[in-house]
Amino acid sequence: MTTHVRYDHYHYPREIDLLCPHCKNHSVAINENVPKEIEHFIDIANFEKIWDFKCIYCIKKYQVEWDDIQNMDLWYKINLKGVLIWAWNSKHLDMIIKKLKKEDIKNHSWVFFESYLNKNCLKKIKNKSDIGKLENMLKYRI
Ligand SMILES: [Zn+2]
Repeated sequence: MTTHVRYDHYHYPREIDLLCPHCKNHSVAINENVPKEIEHFIDIANFEKIWDFKCIYCIKKYQVEWDDIQNMDLWYKINLKGVLIWAWNSKHLDMIIKKLKKEDIKNHSWVFFESYLNKNCLKKIKNKSDIGKLENMLKYRI
């Protein structure tokens, strides 16, 4: 019997890079209930699903629940060739870039999220300049 446990569980990121809804700068939401070394956790983990939102630009700081995060814009989000590419955070984006460059990601801490990647994305985003746009986002949009 094969199990599909991996796909039955939803993975939540500990740290999320967001576009601040107040000043449109780079902000973050971090679930401080989750130890730092756990970069993402599954739905059955007992961690409380509360993230601390913080923007260093406009100094807004408050707690957000998962549903609130769904209504916020991600910082790492770009439309390339009609394909929306998004990442929860820089490490997630790093995995996507490596995957597009056909690098070995099997030991990458975000490899689980590979299955979330749109098939179109892998088909359409293969040239250097498109991948370069993602790399620049990682490099300069910090
Ligand atoms: Zn702000």
